[in-house]
Amino acid sequence: MQRGCISVFTNGTDISLANRALLLDKLTAHGYRVTDTYSPETELIICIGGDGALIRTVHSCDFPQCPIIGINTGHLGFFQEISPDNLDAFISDYEKGEYSIQKLSTVKAAVVTDDGSRDSHLGLNEILIKGRHSYSIHLDISIGNMPIERFSGDGILVATPAGSTAYNYSLGGSIVDPRLKLLQVTPIAPMNTTAYRSFTSSILLPAELSLGVTPEHDDDVIFIVNDGMETEYSGVRKIEVSISDTHVQLMRFKNYDFWNKVKTKFL
Ligand code: NAP
Repeated sequence: MQRGCISVFTNGTDISLANRALLLDKLTAHGYRVTDTYSPETELIICIGGDGALIRTVHSCDFPQCPIIGINTGHLGFFQEISPDNLDAFISDYEKGEYSIQKLSTVKAAVVTDDGSRDSHLGLNEILIKGRHSYSIHLDISIGNMPIERFSGDGILVATPAGSTAYNYSLGGSIVDPRLKLLQVTPIAPMNTTAYRSFTSSILLPAELSLGVTPEHDDDVIFIVNDGMETEYSGVRKIEVSISDTHVQLMRFKNYDFWNKVKTKFL
């Protein structure tokens, strides 16, 4: 029986490539066409590796609208749903439609520079705004156009609920259930002295509010880091960070429970 097209990506390690070969045999035997590229015909993306590999696949496919599922090959695997031991059960559940889709929201940074040029970046985990190397950075922060604080420190990170368990968590931010629609703004090494006053804890923003960020000096070098990918800017007039309309559709199977995953991966 001829079935649809499945795109399989890996992180290139030996174990991931071995699992890819095994999966390819099984999917082909079930009648699927397997490719290593993403196209409009793709009905499912499978990513073999860890969370980092899944994030890179999402970016390389330009935030695809079809479902994506991860097979974990020995990493933390917070996004990853399938163990390499369960490939047959995965294919069977997929064919029977016994899965759900976890719709993950993403975060967008719109950057305007002094020459009027506009750029934008999307993150599944987070958008990070920081200075060059070990320099501190001074940023005027507004929420929904209301000036709130002048932040001084290493930078600020704006995490999605899905990204709350990544860098955000290492910075002391809270774990957020992805069913909530919000952004978490977490300071990185905020200065809170008589010279500089910055919030020292995370703040949570509802979906309808965006965060405005303006560097104190427009000749400051600013790095925007979306999911670990850096872009350098100078002459930044304004950065606006908000929830994006783009979603990632992560496939989950019947035993998936967000808080059980948190427990098994963090405690
Ligand atoms: P990496 O520095 O090689 O790995 C970062 C670690 O974060 C890996 O263990 C990865 O899991 C895990 N991870 C990624 N997304 C996660 C999520 N949503 N929830 C829980 N853990 C998650 O970088 P990478 O593999 O390219 O991933 C990029 C991400 O690294 C960034 O988006 C950022 O959040 C995170 N990061 C964290 C720190 C920190 O905690 N101090 C510093 C820089 C970047 P796997 O082992 O399964 O890949």
